[in-house]
Amino acid sequence: MVDIHDIRNINQTVLLHLIRERQPISRAEIAKMTGLRPGTISSIVNRLIRKGVIYEGAEGPSSGGRKPTYLYINAENAYVLAIDIGVRDTVYAVSDFNGRILKQKAIVTQGKPQKFLSYLALEIEKTLKSDYGRVKFAAAGVSVPGLIKRDVGEVTVSPNLEWNNTPVKNILEEKLKMPVFVENDANAAAFSELWYGPLDEIKVKTLLYILVVDGLGTGLIINGELHVGSQIGLGGFGHMCLEPNGEICSCGRKGCWETLASESATIARYHRLMNNRNGSITTSMTDIIALANRGDEKATAALRTTAEYLGEGIASLAHGLSPEIVVVGGEISGAWNLIAPIIRDKVKSRYLIPSIAKIDIRPASVQRPSLFGAIPIALQNFF
Ligand SMILES: [Zn+2]
Repeated sequence: MVDIHDIRNINQTVLLHLIRERQPISRAEIAKMTGLRPGTISSIVNRLIRKGVIYEGAEGPSSGGRKPTYLYINAENAYVLAIDIGVRDTVYAVSDFNGRILKQKAIVTQGKPQKFLSYLALEIEKTLKSDYGRVKFAAAGVSVPGLIKRDVGEVTVSPNLEWNNTPVKNILEEKLKMPVFVENDANAAAFSELWYGPLDEIKVKTLLYILVVDGLGTGLIINGELHVGSQIGLGGFGHMCLEPNGEICSCGRKGCWETLASESATIARYHRLMNNRNGSITTSMTDIIALANRGDEKATAALRTTAEYLGEGIASLAHGLSPEIVVVGGEISGAWNLIAPIIRDKVKSRYLIPSIAKIDIRPASVQRPSLFGAIPIALQNFF
């Protein structure tokens, strides 16, 4: 069952993004830019004013009738905490209501999940105490690569983290003493576009986000709602099978999209090209992209093949879902000039009617989308 709150969240995230970027702004201007109904805008604005997230300022000139009042973000009212749990490292950041990241720290993700989360909470507590002792924190948003039970903030299963039935919300809330909201990393990444994406896309209702990290996840906003499926969040399309006899995936099955187009897949491909069987070369995605940008043939070849597979998956999804925009995020977007033409050609070649394949495929607006997306997730507290 799709929760009504998801619809609200999208509209409110979009609306806050617009107020933040264009403040001071009137309700009428918001209606014009977003295409939302005045009634919808009024009810969201009133709620956000009551919660202290925005405030009404000076009156603008009247164009006949009542003078409009301008809306502003109440940036200093409270801060939010964003936590991005990654396979190798976990990053946490402090943000104000203007979406500005004021502080960011990383720790290595390691050990048993309960123990790690307690340690993470302790580290965060120390930082908040020493640097933000006088500040009120409204909430924390947590992004996790895995299937989640959204209502209880539990990670049901994360093949990449190797976590099962982990009560992330409970553990962190107990230690951090603030409301905690947990979201799948690709869904958080999709939110990062609503929060930081270009304003000229503010009316976009259907967006497909492809998050390429150690694994590969997808976040889908469809007809203005985050698509969460029927139960425990949504696994996304990362485990859609592209090669029935392909390599074994972290999920235990063969030939998932993730085994062909994720960061791990790209690194493994590069190692095969380098005949690095005993693992003597350690390479990260950053290294491979840097090598490719300097013209290294094997790094370029590894990325090109990844782009082919990205295109293959996107083609099928885009053909069926018909999104207005497809966003590709993760470090791979740093090789956009190399991968974009390959992805676009692939997508075009797979369309039943090639002339309608005018789909907009672009790189992410932010560098670590699952971290930036955790900020609007935290703001759910006000929705
Ligand atoms: Zn899989």
